[in-house]
Amino acid sequence: MNLVNYIAVNIFETLLRVIPIPCKTGVIKIGKPNRTSPVFLTCNYHLTAKRVKRALHRIDCYLLIANSNGHNVWCGATGGHFTNHDVISVLKTSGIEKLVDHKNVILPQLAASGIETKHIEKKTRWKVIWGPVYAEDIPAFIENNLKKTIEMREVRFSLVQRIEMAIMWAFPFSIIASLITICFWPEVLLPLNALLWGLPFIIFVSFPFYSRWLDPKKKGIGFSKYTVIFDFGRMPLILWGLSLVCLFGFSIMTNALTWEVIFRWGFMSFIVILIISLDLMGSTPISKSGLHEDRFLKIVLDERKCKGAGFCEQVCPKNCYEVDKIRHIATVPRADECVQCGACIVQCPFDALYFQSPEGEILSPESVRKYKLNLIGKRLAKVERE
Ligand code: SF4
Ligand code: SF4
Repeated sequence: MNLVNYIAVNIFETLLRVIPIPCKTGVIKIGKPNRTSPVFLTCNYHLTAKRVKRALHRIDCYLLIANSNGHNVWCGATGGHFTNHDVISVLKTSGIEKLVDHKNVILPQLAASGIETKHIEKKTRWKVIWGPVYAEDIPAFIENNLKKTIEMREVRFSLVQRIEMAIMWAFPFSIIASLITICFWPEVLLPLNALLWGLPFIIFVSFPFYSRWLDPKKKGIGFSKYTVIFDFGRMPLILWGLSLVCLFGFSIMTNALTWEVIFRWGFMSFIVILIISLDLMGSTPISKSGLHEDRFLKIVLDERKCKGAGFCEQVCPKNCYEVDKIRHIATVPRADECVQCGACIVQCPFDALYFQSPEGEILSPESVRKYKLNLIGKRLAKVERE
């Protein structure tokens, strides 16, 4: 695929990011692989498959595309669309077993919240190796003898990714809003679109400047952190206030300051902030909304069960763990960074990890493996009393 085509696909599919776009599953040859070449596996979200292929273009290897119903790796695995069954299915039916003499398959680390290493190995005899979070780090990972550095394990939420997220939110809502207003209220089309594109860009791009104040466990200005659906306790409220200040300034400068203008645009900016605060599957940086009950869960390590094998450390995208290789035990020094993805719990072979709610309820490893998060971040599981 040439560069122009690749860029066009990236732009088009970033605009439509909220829609699952599947591609064909199966095995793809990259370069001139032989019987000892590495085997990578990814999901069948079209944009992901394209990006992984591009990241691998200098490596002679095989790439397996497993069904995830067109969802990306993290959302698919955490939401139950990219499952053990999908990985087992592509390993058994793609013909890869006839192409190589080994049984090592490299999976993207973010799939660890849904794919169980133990289960795959038991059913297929393929050994799962957790690759880096980002496909662009794969060449360095190969050079490093399949060992990940701390940076390769971490979700970075870079400027480019934040811009993609802003576009992902702004585009569909601007289309819907434009279609509605063009018939009944055409004069607001441009300012409304400026608002729908401007606010997400400001919010996502400026994320590093305000992220330190986003601790959902701390009380901030606003309403109760437990009861308000949209968690207006912190940043959304401040950002809405800022948008109102801009609105006032603009209206005064253009001599258009009337109560009608203030009410109309104040209301619209409120709706836009509400939409962005929804945080479908954790995509917004503002803070997880009150829809996400999981955000109050803390990760708990049962030291009696831990054997220090370090699977948790290998799959945690926030580098919460440190494993003492001499004492054979893990610690969780950065537990506050946890984003409740559940990957460490799913992968721990000794069930030494679980979630606990502020009320002391336990979400067992069995529940985390069995029940996946839905689009609004609810894990449909029963909790057990300690
Ligand atoms: S918590 Fe589980 S995965 Fe982590 S080191 Fe201990 S036994 Fe291994
Ligand atoms: S500690 Fe938290 S962020 Fe890290 S893998 Fe476990 S659940 Fe995910």
